[in-house]
Amino acid sequence: MDQYADGVQLWIEFDLGGRIMGLGYCSECGKLYLENTSGLCPQCYELEEFEELKIVDFLREKGKASIEQICKATGVKEKTVLRMMKRGRFKGDFEITHPCESCGELISEGRLCAKCSKNILDQVKTSESPKQEERSGVRVYSRDILKNK
Ligand SMILES: [Zn+2]
Ligand SMILES: [Zn+2]
Repeated sequence: MDQYADGVQLWIEFDLGGRIMGLGYCSECGKLYLENTSGLCPQCYELEEFEELKIVDFLREKGKASIEQICKATGVKEKTVLRMMKRGRFKGDFEITHPCESCGELISEGRLCAKCSKNILDQVKTSESPKQEERSGVRVYSRDILKNK
């Protein structure tokens, strides 16, 4: 056995599924961890699984709830609930409402309520009024051809 055996062993462990896994920072606690699809270190991931179960339990009882209600009832951070929603964890099963970013009305999809998104669309439309087409100057090429000899 040579002295590098340990080092070689380490690299084999890092080579999961045929590719070298990278290191990343956990998006929850900022700790360095072996990258995975969840973006969380094992500890935070475990906690999140647990929190998710709490939320699912709560939603089963209520059927429909706002993010605010979920946070109050389960003690899970809003940021975490939003992250779970982004991953589509509760999609289809429950209706989670959150306030419209513009007027605060409770909505279940997107960032704005139907009214506000329509307002914004209208604004975009009016600000994008078609520019007057520049008249392309028709150039007349006068040829110096003397027709009358
Ligand atoms: Zn973490
Ligand atoms: Zn709104």
